[in-house]
Amino acid sequence: MTETPMRVRAPLRARAEIDLAALRANVHALRARAPRARLMAVVKADAYGHGMVPCARAAVLAGADWLGTATPQEALALRAAGLRTRLLCWLWTPGGPWREAIEADIDVSVSARWALDEVCAAARDCGRTARVQLKADTGLGRGGCQPADWPELVGAALAAEAEGLLRVTGLWSHYACADEPGHPSIAAQTARFDEAVAHAEKAGLRPEVRHIANSPAVLTLPESQYDLVRPGVALYGISPVPQLGSAADFGLRPVMTLSARLGLVKHVPAGHGVSYGHHYVTSAPTTLGLVPLGYADGIPRHASGKGPVLVGGAWRRVAGRVAMDQFVVDLGGDEPAAGAEAVLFGPGDRGEPTAEDWAVAADTIAYEIVTRIGPRVDRVYVNEEPADPGTDPDGPVGAAR
Ligand SMILES: *Cc1c(COP(=O)(O)O)cnc(C)c1O
Repeated sequence: MTETPMRVRAPLRARAEIDLAALRANVHALRARAPRARLMAVVKADAYGHGMVPCARAAVLAGADWLGTATPQEALALRAAGLRTRLLCWLWTPGGPWREAIEADIDVSVSARWALDEVCAAARDCGRTARVQLKADTGLGRGGCQPADWPELVGAALAAEAEGLLRVTGLWSHYACADEPGHPSIAAQTARFDEAVAHAEKAGLRPEVRHIANSPAVLTLPESQYDLVRPGVALYGISPVPQLGSAADFGLRPVMTLSARLGLVKHVPAGHGVSYGHHYVTSAPTTLGLVPLGYADGIPRHASGKGPVLVGGAWRRVAGRVAMDQFVVDLGGDEPAAGAEAVLFGPGDRGEPTAEDWAVAADTIAYEIVTRIGPRVDRVYVNEEPADPGTDPDGPVGAAR
């Protein structure tokens, strides 16, 4: 998938610049909002397209206590890269790989009896005590154990703890509508979570951490913080609740800047169709710029005719359809040179659009815009280390890990 082995030293066609200082600052901002809770940096899906290992390292350097992934392959890749931080992995299917996870000191989430049984078998096989977090479905209706099945799951976990096969390190759940503060499901889910925790603790479980808060909950629901919070998208400087506030309003800074170099600039006459289907036709003689990114790179085809791009100090719109590898912008007669920079999105303070602007153009959420940026786009990491650890205003947090 990756072009790395073939990489030649030429200027990049396109790049996703990843500002790790912004990521570290976002960790600090989120910690300040949940000062009594531990922080799990969610780095699933290649850190929402930002690059899992560099982002995980930066988050730990900034003081993240835990890392979170969806798949076991992601969790094992973090261990293979040398990250020793506590790590929860929650998206399992029969067959695991449970044993590899247990041997790599990964905390595994269990929502059902079949999973608990497979964890116990793997722990027996390798002679280790598994670390298990039981997940309750408090109303999301996705992962997690239904309230009716919870007592049985808790009972089976207690029996396995007594045998030394596992230790229940956490009880947890996930909100459906945390991005809509005041939605009645939020209070209902919190109440059901309290009931699930109370039942498990009364039965004898002694979890280290109880947690339910994702990014929108960290930013808008202080009562949801419990022992640990699990922000994902906010770490990357994207507001999970754009209707309530921008990233800057929440003290967050976007981490990814996506740009490309124009592959061609040319004059065309009036009445010229542009791109597949000719959904755009020039209304006057003009110049067109070719942006060498397309839906294979994660540029949404649904943003055809709408996606904004900063070229030569002005916003241009995608003219016609986004194709697999390229799209066109109408430069209105301007003549930037081939190779000129086209910025699709970034923090916004150089006048460029943001990932949220692309989300609006494509009728989706900014989570999807950054996460889908594909492997053909080089990630270029900047500000990898604090400029001077001695004078870093955040101090040497995490430096000893
Ligand atoms: C993705 C995910 C998160 C992080 O969600 P954000 O909205 O990006 O903060 C937290 N917990 C679970 C279970 C997730 O799947």
